[in-house]
Amino acid sequence: MPDKKTIRDVDVSGKKVLLRVDFNVPFKPGTVEISNTNRITSSLPTIRYLLDHGAAIIICSHLGRPDGKKVSSLTLGPISEKLTQFLDVPVNFCPSIDFCKIDLFVKDLKPGEVILLENLRFHPGEEENEAEFALWLSGLADIYVNDAFGAAHRAHASTQGVTKHLTSVAGLLLEEEIRSLRHVMFDPPRPFTAVLGGAKISDKIDVVTRLGSMADTVLIGGGMAATFLKSQGFNVGLSLVEDNFLSEAEALVARSSPPASGLMLPSDAVVSTAFHSEAEHRICEVSDIEPDEMFLDIGPQTAENYVRVLENSASVFWNGPMGVFEWEQYSHGTKLVAEATSVGARVSVIGGGSTVEAISKFGLEGRMTHISTGGGASLEFLGGKKLPGIESLTGFDNP
Ligand code: ADP
Ligand code: MG
Repeated sequence: MPDKKTIRDVDVSGKKVLLRVDFNVPFKPGTVEISNTNRITSSLPTIRYLLDHGAAIIICSHLGRPDGKKVSSLTLGPISEKLTQFLDVPVNFCPSIDFCKIDLFVKDLKPGEVILLENLRFHPGEEENEAEFALWLSGLADIYVNDAFGAAHRAHASTQGVTKHLTSVAGLLLEEEIRSLRHVMFDPPRPFTAVLGGAKISDKIDVVTRLGSMADTVLIGGGMAATFLKSQGFNVGLSLVEDNFLSEAEALVARSSPPASGLMLPSDAVVSTAFHSEAEHRICEVSDIEPDEMFLDIGPQTAENYVRVLENSASVFWNGPMGVFEWEQYSHGTKLVAEATSVGARVSVIGGGSTVEAISKFGLEGRMTHISTGGGASLEFLGGKKLPGIESLTGFDNP
């Protein structure tokens, strides 16, 4: 973070700090049980730093998409309890996003105390980046800290609007996210391999293009592999294909220069005639996919080839599962790639919600160098876009 200030560059002692975090955590379906607390634990270093340096903290976040209305299943109440457990400091939850109620909570807040506001998106002004809502939010505090990397690609009141009124600095997680992503973007230890998969190429074309010119090797899997294969003249049957990206896919393959470096496509696949967890499936060469079959995972030969490349890599960036990993019979490609990425001294940076989910399913979270808390944000950042939540922070030359 060479050009933007962080919490280390400001004096927070005795100040009220408005801390924007990303507590948009997954829940077990139909329950208030948090299924992955990574986004909460990732924010602890910043919260502890602020407490240790004498700040009073007003934490705010969004959760899900309540669309400007109160939706009781999307309350931050359960997160407040979890945070209290992790911090070992009581977190006072303000169960409303109503101005008057919050004022009462904040008025007498003292250094060392923490409050958590209710889901910001219960107020329509948050996503609309309404000037009045941003002004009111900023009026709660003396300094603004953004640690919500996962929301940094959104210009919302709590990620961008507030920065017009307060000294605005990065938290430790935001700083670490940017440092890790810049490392693989600009200065990766080589050979540098990018693994790209997931559902669709349209979500990721900027990243594929950028990494295509940066990485020594790009390994393609997941749903997007079918579009690449079709662009090379293969029949991919009922696979997920985005026809309007065929020419871009073809150009990307043409620009790379295999086999020593370049873009690698699957040579075999696990295919089925139905998109179903129990459906019959078979392994075949990518040239043998029948018209009524679809590509659902990379095949064993492809996985072996990809693992070999990964084993010889000094750094790896990975976004997007290699197959429909949620179903056992299509999870092998993703698992083998995850294991090979996590081994040894290589730098491994992971982005993408489903990719992170796959890695935790295989119990490999602790073995990666950096797991980004931002899916969309990490992709936009790597694709070269400027993120409003980062751009609007106070710089060293525009104090
Ligand atoms: P991430 O969240 O890591 O960026 P995506 O959102 O792009 O990843 O894609 C994840 C989804 O893609 C998963 O739900 C997975 O089941 C699905 N997927 C992977 N391979 C295929 C495939 N061959 N066909 C259809 N869906 C796939
Ligand atoms: Mg996703």
